[in-house]
Amino acid sequence: MSTITAPRGVRDILPEESWKWAHVLSATGKIAYAHSYREIHLPVFEQTDLFSRGIGETTDVVEKEMYTFLDRGKRSLTLRPEATASMVRAYLQNKMQSDQQPVKLWCAGPMFRYERPQKGRYRQFWQIDVEALGSDNPLVDVEVISVALALFEDLGLSNLDVVINSVGCPACRPAYREELQTYFSDHIDELCETCKSRLHRNPLRILDCKNERCREITENAPDIYSSLCQECRVHFDAVLDGLRMLGIHFHLDKRLVRGLDYYTKTAFEVLSGELGAQNAVCGGGRYDNLSEAVGGPHLPGVGFAAGLERIVLIMEQQQCSFGRKPSIDIYVVSADETSRKEAFSLVTELRKNGLKADLDFLDRSMKAQFKSAVSKESKFTCILGESEISEGTVTLKDLRTGEQVAVPRQEAASYVLSRI
Ligand code: AMP
Repeated sequence: MSTITAPRGVRDILPEESWKWAHVLSATGKIAYAHSYREIHLPVFEQTDLFSRGIGETTDVVEKEMYTFLDRGKRSLTLRPEATASMVRAYLQNKMQSDQQPVKLWCAGPMFRYERPQKGRYRQFWQIDVEALGSDNPLVDVEVISVALALFEDLGLSNLDVVINSVGCPACRPAYREELQTYFSDHIDELCETCKSRLHRNPLRILDCKNERCREITENAPDIYSSLCQECRVHFDAVLDGLRMLGIHFHLDKRLVRGLDYYTKTAFEVLSGELGAQNAVCGGGRYDNLSEAVGGPHLPGVGFAAGLERIVLIMEQQQCSFGRKPSIDIYVVSADETSRKEAFSLVTELRKNGLKADLDFLDRSMKAQFKSAVSKESKFTCILGESEISEGTVTLKDLRTGEQVAVPRQEAASYVLSRI
């Protein structure tokens, strides 16, 4: 029988990497709370309708990428491909309309999309999601963007590019769609097959096609700015003014439309040259009509999602600090058969005193135990042999300096604690 491996596009986050994730998530909590965003835990699966109605039937995510299944009660459920629709559902279901507005929330967790796996693109990946629900104030858009940038700055990321656009609203987008359809119809034979099929379903998506010829054609496509209605234009200008006020550099990108239908007005991404083809580290925008699309009342909202794997990739490439790698303070080495059991009780005492402590469970030689201490990057070893047990002492060695002392056993913890 062949050994079972993880499905394509998903991976184990091993301890060598998971401590880096913990660092990013702890920074996220710190920055989110500093901006008064509170953490929420959302379910990993939802009713399929939430996504098909919320994200949009004609989007790649809904058409091709969802992990949808029937449960034993024949209900159609979907592993969440993103968190925004769930945030809106949670807001409505938990009657957060009666809380102070905007309701500012964040969450982090795995998302699932059936995409072609490549560097920085997986079928299970983690997103950090930050959302502000219940306000149409353009300064909230600015705040959300500034939360993303504050997080990236805190993590030490550099050379990021903020790109922004407005995708209009249901009042002004139809006219722009038509304008695009007319423009692209003249070039229909030159477009890639996917874009040909997008022409009538979702012409805005042609703008962000990565195909070289499609990109050349979109170069001269009409931009949305001149089609924006008064309300969208005033909103967009206010967002840009707010960004300038905070000294946030950005580029306008008329091609930025994003893959999810629910966006209205502001759409933005943060890009990194470090990521190759998958260059977006974070994407977001405003979604004032999402709530209505899933059967709720009008509820303005704005937020972003940042990819955890991609953040870690950039940090590694830019040699950013992940803080201190977890290691142990003390490794107890037993010198002989009789001290093995005693070593276990000593380790327990040391742990109770607040030390990170470990020992050997395989009855290995002292030499092998010292090697373990070094490979676990322990700061101290504590040698326990027959003579130490009869004298009530232990021998402590500081592995950083080589200094070795014998101390009474009950003082071992305080000795090490004062030196780490
Ligand atoms: P989106 O929800 O598509 O706007 O994506 C927001 C962010 O999530 C992107 O900027 C990426 O950092 C990350 N992301 C999206 N899809 C994937 C994926 N398949 N694998 C890894 N990260 C992803």
